[in-house]
Amino acid sequence: MDCPRQNDTGFYRPRKPWETSLYRLVEEHFDEFERVYPDRFQHKYGFWRPVIRKAVKDYLKCGDLREGFARVRCPECGHNMFVGLSCKQRCICPSCHQKRTLVTAINIAENISAPVPHRQFVLTMPKRFRLYFRFDRELLRKLPKLAWETVKEVYRAVLDRSDAVPGMVAGIQSHGQLSNWHPHIHALVTYGAFTPDGAFIPLPDELSSTPFLKIWEDKIFGLLLDEGRITQNVIDQMGTWKHSGFSVDKSVALAAGDTAGLERLTAYMVRCPFSLDRILSVSDDGQVVYRAEKADCQPFPMLGDEKLFRGISRNFEIFDPLEFLAEITQHIPNPGMQMVRYYGWYSNKMRGQRLKAAESTGNASEEIVIDDEDTPYRKLCRMRWAALIKRVYETDPLCCPKCGSEMKAIAFIERRDQPDVVEQILKHCGLWDRPASRAPPATEQPEQLDLELQYVDTDEFLMAL
Ligand SMILES: [Zn+2]
Ligand SMILES: [Zn+2]
Repeated sequence: MDCPRQNDTGFYRPRKPWETSLYRLVEEHFDEFERVYPDRFQHKYGFWRPVIRKAVKDYLKCGDLREGFARVRCPECGHNMFVGLSCKQRCICPSCHQKRTLVTAINIAENISAPVPHRQFVLTMPKRFRLYFRFDRELLRKLPKLAWETVKEVYRAVLDRSDAVPGMVAGIQSHGQLSNWHPHIHALVTYGAFTPDGAFIPLPDELSSTPFLKIWEDKIFGLLLDEGRITQNVIDQMGTWKHSGFSVDKSVALAAGDTAGLERLTAYMVRCPFSLDRILSVSDDGQVVYRAEKADCQPFPMLGDEKLFRGISRNFEIFDPLEFLAEITQHIPNPGMQMVRYYGWYSNKMRGQRLKAAESTGNASEEIVIDDEDTPYRKLCRMRWAALIKRVYETDPLCCPKCGSEMKAIAFIERRDQPDVVEQILKHCGLWDRPASRAPPATEQPEQLDLELQYVDTDEFLMAL
């Protein structure tokens, strides 16, 4: 196999995950974390879940050429690149999760949502119930359906139509502002519902949240009662409290056709439970200073998450390395767990029916499309969508950095099939060894940390230490 020289700009060297503080922390401490888990973490985080090891080990290989790569070549100028393979792990690999987030957000904004007004619903539960959902992931699986039933029941009552169907995309979020355990539902819901003939009936602007709250409460109580987690006594007792700890917020509204808004909101809904940007520092012995989401620049202002912020009295947390691993790995979903669900008008079933009906009448575009103007934004979305769908690899291998032509994968070499070949090629090209330097990236400069800590009340700072 011919191979360009290393000084040829020919090699596309993708981002280097092993230079991030997260990667170093995981690489250095994961095995110890797993070893001490039963003694140190099981009582708090539940039994060890094998998916954690699988996801973490795959993440540690993400983008590493030594694990295998695709060789891509430009048919126009002959330019060659090696492209590492991505791990596609959710909630642990920031890069792969981000790609998934973008794909989901564009798909929902561009392909799934109808051109009608939407609201974001955020439905939360009292602190005392949250642990049940950590210990029993089946409970977490059941949560979005309860949110769907809540919304559907209230909508139907308000519209006085038992056949009206809203569209909902519900995301399970298991994290709060500090990557702490905080299971709740973020949902994007049509603000109104569709009749069987496809007409959309909007809801009044001023609609109290109280009926949603009452039904949501009942549903959660019902679930926990059925599962034997709580007794009727607990429910009666909580009924006497002024604040039950449940909340339903629907204050964030999106106008019909606000595709960009839908995309931003969805991206926020399905974002990674933690962010590399919020790891302020990792000391030599692995102490992690992690800041709350609240403190950074929100990707989408006015998220209706104010209630989530309320319980957070500080904007950063200091973890020892194993605690930090426990906090972030608790959010890795079990295999097959769908974190985003589509209901009602947006369910696969109803979308399939509409598509079929449209095809049989020779009208392939959906019947409810009001705004079919091909805006530049829509064009952009389609292009990004196409690019993302093709993006199976570490980076988009399809665009030649030299001439811009579309590149083609001409070979895949995976370590598990041909370990010697991978090593031989990379050594020959000077790409086998990782750079010895392990200097922290520029984002972890101490000045930034000092600045951050100034936000914090002295008392809280001392307590946290
Ligand atoms: Zn990855
Ligand atoms: Zn080219």
